[in-house]
Amino acid sequence: MNTTGTKNISVLISGASVAGPALAHWLHRYGFTTTVVERAPALRDGGYAVDFRGEAHLSVLRGMGILEAVEQARTGMGSMAYVNKAGKPQAKLPADLFAGDVEILRGDLARILHEATAPHTEYVFGDSVTSLSEDAEGVTVTFERGAPRRFDLVIGADGMHSTTRRLAFGPEERYVRHLGVHCAIFTTANRLGLDHTGHAYRTAGRLVAMYSARHNTEAKAVFYFASPLLDLDRREVARQQAVLAEQFAGNGWESDRLLEDMRYAPDFYFDSVAQVRMDSWSRGRVALLGDAAYCPSSLSGMGTGLALVGAYVLAGELAAARRDHRGAFARYESELREYAAGCQKMGDGVARLMVPGSRLTATLLNRYYKVMPYLPGKDMAARIARRTAENITLRDYSAWDRLGPRDPALPVAAG
Ligand SMILES: Cc1cc2nc3c(=O)[nH]c(=O)nc-3n(C[C@H](O)[C@H](O)[C@H](O)COP(=O)(O)OP(=O)(O)OC[C@H]3O[C@@H](n4cnc5c(N)ncnc54)[C@H](O)[C@@H]3O)c2cc1C
Repeated sequence: MNTTGTKNISVLISGASVAGPALAHWLHRYGFTTTVVERAPALRDGGYAVDFRGEAHLSVLRGMGILEAVEQARTGMGSMAYVNKAGKPQAKLPADLFAGDVEILRGDLARILHEATAPHTEYVFGDSVTSLSEDAEGVTVTFERGAPRRFDLVIGADGMHSTTRRLAFGPEERYVRHLGVHCAIFTTANRLGLDHTGHAYRTAGRLVAMYSARHNTEAKAVFYFASPLLDLDRREVARQQAVLAEQFAGNGWESDRLLEDMRYAPDFYFDSVAQVRMDSWSRGRVALLGDAAYCPSSLSGMGTGLALVGAYVLAGELAAARRDHRGAFARYESELREYAAGCQKMGDGVARLMVPGSRLTATLLNRYYKVMPYLPGKDMAARIARRTAENITLRDYSAWDRLGPRDPALPVAAG
């Protein structure tokens, strides 16, 4: 145990979803003082399902001591069926492809992370950073509501539309790359009686799906459609819903009924499916983490694991470098770049395959899924996803851990 070099280093983390609290967890173990500021007035509950796969993800969860809690909250989803217009299943895709080793609702994961960190982390809800002003000694941060404060370091873990990134690196358009697809998701009644499963219906340029959640007591409705980037304000829900209705009205299967449900949804989400590409993830005393820095897209199935691994690496490098934050940020990038690039490659591929623009490709793909279980390469996609998720050798930072090598759950040292 050696935390003398990190004692009294204060870190502001913007964002309390996955990456932010995971970073707070590790920084605490290395002796840093952390504050997490979250724009939402409280933890956001529920949401869509996210997943972990492979040893890199699981070993970080284990090292944090939360793997058991995550497993207890798992969705337990089985295979997903592609259906025809009448709702008749045509092809089944294995659970491994969608749900990885452990699938959990994003909100449940955020709650577990918050509970694990709240005793030693200052959480400020309902506020946002408005300016960052750096000098040789630290960063002065102003907030929408709270009084200005000083921190040694600031980490933006505030998602694809990161405010921290905008303030420290410049406008979003420079870094966020639209993948040609928009996505909407909301909670609805499980009126199809789906039992730990999902149904998806694909036509040219469109995919609409429903999957059961919270052990079949509710369902999530998901819409994807191909289109150039739409000029829609993220707060204009009525306009977003109008666009979705235009895209999917008369589309077949459950589309019309789900569009009706959409009007009453408690948690309507709409966004472009996009990636964040940056040449550098840090500037001075400010660094980015998770979707804010290297979002692989909501379709990649990789973003949550990547955010978690990123938090482990960033915290570890900050601990190892003591007060040399520049050195730590450079090591963080060199350790994680290739891994993040692999996850983004997955996102690119899936976006093209999930919602193909032409009718011919959509039909061929639907037919392919039908025969896939009988083909030799049937589990190829799941294997690629697993290989991508495992494509990193985690360094062992336990020398700086206040729990020290006594904690048997830490990731195994790998050089
Ligand atoms: C529809 C959908 C489906 C997905 N499916 C999967 C999946 O199957 N598997 C998978 O692994 N991943 C999936 N993802 C991606 C996954 O959710 C993200 O990659 C992951 O949550 C990244 O975590 P993060 O903490 O970096 O960012 P986020 O989860 O985006 O969290 C950012 C946080 O910052 C907060 N914030 C924003 N602005 C500010 C501000 N100005 N000040 C303070 N706080 C702020 C937000 O409220 C939020 O709490 C999906 C995403 C979406 C949208």
